[in-house]
Amino acid sequence: MTAQSNASQVAAGAARAAVGVQLIDLCRIFGQLRALDNLNIDIAPGEFIAFLGPSGCGKTTALRIVAGLDDANSGQVLVGGRDIQNVPASKRDMGMVFQAYSLFPNMTAADNVGFGLRMRKVHKDERRRIAEEMLALVGLAGMSNRYPNQLSGGQQQRVALARALAIRPSVLLLDEPLSALDAKVRGELRDEIKRIHKDVGTTTIFVTHDQEEAFALADRVAVINLGKLQQIAPPTDIYERPQTEFVAEFVGLTNRLPGVAEGDTVSILGGRAPLLDGSVKSGQVTVLVRPERLHLEPAADADANGRIVSVSFRGSICMVRARLHTDHLVMVQMQNADISRLTEGTPVKVSVLPVPMLAVDASKSPSTGFKEPAEAPVFSAEAEEVEEVAAP
Ligand code: ATP
Repeated sequence: MTAQSNASQVAAGAARAAVGVQLIDLCRIFGQLRALDNLNIDIAPGEFIAFLGPSGCGKTTALRIVAGLDDANSGQVLVGGRDIQNVPASKRDMGMVFQAYSLFPNMTAADNVGFGLRMRKVHKDERRRIAEEMLALVGLAGMSNRYPNQLSGGQQQRVALARALAIRPSVLLLDEPLSALDAKVRGELRDEIKRIHKDVGTTTIFVTHDQEEAFALADRVAVINLGKLQQIAPPTDIYERPQTEFVAEFVGLTNRLPGVAEGDTVSILGGRAPLLDGSVKSGQVTVLVRPERLHLEPAADADANGRIVSVSFRGSICMVRARLHTDHLVMVQMQNADISRLTEGTPVKVSVLPVPMLAVDASKSPSTGFKEPAEAPVFSAEAEEVEEVAAP
């Protein structure tokens, strides 16, 4: 396409047809380290995908390869079905937003937004019109003449987003764009990004190590560990139907309890539950059980299999810790109304709900009960106020 026709397409505001992106067997090796280890991810046209994983798992490396800022040692990236290996970064029509705002300090917001259009030789009046339109889209109407140092961090990141969108990219790449912002601004901009994606429909890859962000934004979440895809699925499936131990542990709270698997079910805590795909299907297993998948009720001594350790209020729900007679500590999520008779030492019967669970090989992954995670996970509580009740 000539610069002129490209310019007129941009100037006419022509909506691009959304394109799919496929990462096929991507490998990236740095010295001894396999930063990407046969990574395969298939992104549908117009989809919003989050790459989620711990620090160093390879998320940014994958994004940089898609953007053309780095090369894979092997594998392919297809955009709209076309291998883009030989397409330089500047010709990939991808919009990028990084963690650092990376605006040009000596340019106004409008000039920053229009920068990519200038490179594409779009006429200055058109640049201005599109920049105003994009600034309005990201909620910055009337701020076109401000310089970056006259904008807050959140506003600068909105300008960066407007700049990435101004070229009407075929793919939008967002690398932890919210992590430098404080919690309130982060939440606001997250909602804006969701709204804008709905309006614009650009295929989007959002890199984050924050599960709450990934779950709130993405159509599907790709959980990555050690350069490999662990699971790609809608947020609720990632949480409720984890296919690997890593996914179950990385997302949400988990009790690790002993069970015996037989075929498609597992016996655990005197009951039986179906097994998820990916489970070990025979013998001694460790079952990974979410706190809300456990049931707990007061019981006579003879029927009890544990005792209450503590009860903590978390807004609309309660988290109850109990020590089982097997010495495993368990965490059970309950409704507040159900806890009136529970105090420290109360004998209780803990059982599982008959919902699908993941079981892993007990000889490799022992059943260690409940362990507090390093970071508070999502879905388990809406707690602003957390009040530990020291039971009498
Ligand atoms: P974070 O969330 O901390 O940004 P990430 O998942 O994005 O992490 P990457 O930046 O993709 O991780 O890095 C993956 C691995 O590759 C890390 O161990 C990192 O140290 C290593 N790595 C990345 N770039 C290089 C490089 N240019 N040279 C050597 N090692 C690198």
